Amino acid sequence: MKKLLLFGLGLLIVLFAARKLVLPKIAERGFERVLSERLGAPTAQLEDGIHVYICGAGSPLFDAKRSGPCIAVQAGEKSFIFDAGTKGSQNLAPMGFTVDKVEGIFLTHLHSDHIDGLGQMLLGTWINSGRTEPTKVYGPVGTSQVVDGFNMAYQIDSTYRTAHHGVAVANPASFGAIAHEIKLVNGSKVVYDNDGVKITATMVTHEPVHPAFGYRIDYKDRSIYISGDTAYDIRIAGYAKDVDVMFHEALNMEMVQTMEGIAKKNGAKGLEKILFDIQDYHTSPVDAAKTAKQANARDLVLYHIVPMLPNDLLIPVFVKGTNAEFDGKITVSQDGTIVRLPVDSDAIIYEDGMANFR
Ligand SMILES: [Zn+2]
Ligand SMILES: [Zn+2]
Repeated sequence: MKKLLLFGLGLLIVLFAARKLVLPKIAERGFERVLSERLGAPTAQLEDGIHVYICGAGSPLFDAKRSGPCIAVQAGEKSFIFDAGTKGSQNLAPMGFTVDKVEGIFLTHLHSDHIDGLGQMLLGTWINSGRTEPTKVYGPVGTSQVVDGFNMAYQIDSTYRTAHHGVAVANPASFGAIAHEIKLVNGSKVVYDNDGVKITATMVTHEPVHPAFGYRIDYKDRSIYISGDTAYDIRIAGYAKDVDVMFHEALNMEMVQTMEGIAKKNGAKGLEKILFDIQDYHTSPVDAAKTAKQANARDLVLYHIVPMLPNDLLIPVFVKGTNAEFDGKITVSQDGTIVRLPVDSDAIIYEDGMANFR
């Protein structure tokens, strides 16, 4: 009995020592390994094609796996950002996407959740960019006012950065952003056409937010569409005709109605009203699937997910009924989802760009 006790005690001490001494060593080595892969390393040579990085798959609601809306796109040699929601900039670094060389940031509309990470994003596109002019921010009318506000808010910080790191790192000439307001003609407009990459802004329905845009990106034989925030809108199927992947926002009405009922029961009248109001300017997963079918898209990736999905077991609940509308693959994205579309190929490759960081 005494021997057994001693053995047990010895085992506990060994386990304790392992936990205190060995595990931190393993963690430290892992930390160095991951950093050496990502910290300051040049962006990996990517296969020619369109590469899509979900830097924010969520909405204004808290969701541990989904930050504010943000999608980064590499097409050939060029890279772009679509919306700059909370944490978008921070999420891109572990995914291996560097923001300092982006051609521009494209805003779908000026709702707070789509612009509230713009300050941090612009810091990333400024520092070490080597540019001599500010980052271009494209968006609907009103974008100039938003950009002016961010420039003013971050101007003091910029002087600290320049004083501390020097002009080569933090060049005042390239600080901040310059706005390019887009005015559509008959519902759409090509807003970027360079080196084989074409970006077309298209009208979507998000009243009382007007105008609100979706964006189609074409590069060689591959294409995607990003819906931004929209109610079910038959025009999207036309703008997104035959894309490889449609990235569409989605709000599950039944789940939000459940939240609305709980808010009512708890006497939270203001919250109840908001949860009711948001249902009329978003698209249900089933209607997003219908849009993908009507557009003849091959795959559908849902993002801007409402409500929060604290457990993956809720994903089948969220997409209930979508398979009856659309035959292609349907993915409920999360921060870190990467979709790769190599040219001269039919392949649509999915990766978890944050697998090493979870
Ligand atoms: Zn919105
Ligand atoms: Zn939104």
